[in-house]
Amino acid sequence: MNQKVRVRFAPSPTGSLHLGGVRTALYNYLFAKHHGGEFILRVEDTDQERSTDASRHQQLEELKWLGLNWDEGPEVGGAYGPYMQSLRLDYYQEIAQKLIDIGLAYYCFLTDEQIESLRENDRRWVSPYRDLSIDEARKRILAGDAYVLRFRLPDVPKTYVLNDWVRGEVALSTEGLTDFVLLRFGGMPVYNFCCVCDDHAMLISHVFRGEEHLPNSLKQMLLYDALGWKAPEFGHLSVIVNEERRKLSKRDGAVSVGSFRDEGYLPAAILNAVALLGWSHPDAQDIFSLKEMIRVFDGKRLGASSAYFDREKMRWTNAMHIRQLTADDLWSMLWPYVADLNLPSDAHWPKMALAVYQTEIQTLSDAKLLLAPFSLDAFRIEGVDEIFTWEKTLILLKSWRELLLTKGDYVSSQEFSAFIEAMKEQGLQGKKLFMPLRAAIIGKLQGAEMQMLVQLMPKKELLRRINQLTEVLM
Ligand code: GLU
Repeated sequence: MNQKVRVRFAPSPTGSLHLGGVRTALYNYLFAKHHGGEFILRVEDTDQERSTDASRHQQLEELKWLGLNWDEGPEVGGAYGPYMQSLRLDYYQEIAQKLIDIGLAYYCFLTDEQIESLRENDRRWVSPYRDLSIDEARKRILAGDAYVLRFRLPDVPKTYVLNDWVRGEVALSTEGLTDFVLLRFGGMPVYNFCCVCDDHAMLISHVFRGEEHLPNSLKQMLLYDALGWKAPEFGHLSVIVNEERRKLSKRDGAVSVGSFRDEGYLPAAILNAVALLGWSHPDAQDIFSLKEMIRVFDGKRLGASSAYFDREKMRWTNAMHIRQLTADDLWSMLWPYVADLNLPSDAHWPKMALAVYQTEIQTLSDAKLLLAPFSLDAFRIEGVDEIFTWEKTLILLKSWRELLLTKGDYVSSQEFSAFIEAMKEQGLQGKKLFMPLRAAIIGKLQGAEMQMLVQLMPKKELLRRINQLTEVLM
């Protein structure tokens, strides 16, 4: 790479951060880090009606939570700031003036209705103000007439051939385009214009963004040309689709970072899964860390065909990352999900529980359901009547109670196996053995694997439960 790599993620603060945005941020980040370059964050907030402070704060916070820290941008500063477009308005005015001065932008006084009727006659309509003299235009502006500033397209259609990082050669023609707006009514600049001004001023070398931006890239190429600036290199990322091969949208359920976070996805797992939506590891690995991605990331491995978002695969990826955590780390991450369960408080209980359950947890919120049977809160007994019609249930419960009165805080696996053996000798087996026992342990006849449960439940608690069960009986 003969130019310093400087890439940017440029979100509009108009909602929450979704998987598509995460992927754009991640690929730019990886490209920068792999090449020893800079990752810049720029907030594109010139759409004043839709941009909100809350969305900006949330998006920045989520990027940090994911670990996609920026080298320059809001909060951290940098030599090319400010990094919020709403703070750069004077600069855009200056560049707009430059385009007016060289005859490549003009004031247009058409109203929306007038444009509509021009368009009805000809889709390639031309503004009657294209050749209005600047003096005339100024007079109208002074008189208070509303205007927009339009870019003047080349008179003869032009074709640009992008050497796209993802799709190879892409031809973009101005055929069918009309003179587009640079400054809206009221003077606010539009995305395509600000984007070019900023990518130029911030020395952006490469732009990776979704393929829906291809038409924007054409307008942006026109602006680079008009201003005599060198355009960055582009890579237009494939679209992310759902099971029906339609573009992934909010209708496909929770696809925002916030909802994945709430469900208990780890940042590392989200990045891992998202990385594979249009890119693959050179050794076909499925599970890797951000550090590993930086090491192997090659922009040339980005694929142009649409990327299928598979929620099950994402869950599996998360489970694999959860397995790699130490018990201490995992416990502190899942604590918020189980804090109100009132679990046994022995210091070594979390480790014991995770030795059994770590491999069962796909998202942190699963822990709530898995650990609920250990809650020391009220023990609920439901639908167990049947067991009391069996002849040997009482013998079984009595022996179980005796075992619970023996020394030791927990029933060891040896104790448990010996107990089962003894009961078999008494002629108990199958459901007549396990259902009453399950009732004594979890208050129901069906449910979690008992052997696991028993080893994690203090004898004291098991005793409380069997006492409660026999009270129901008596
Ligand atoms: N603000 C634009 C968006 O959110 C950025 C597009 C670009 O990367 O140029 O889609």
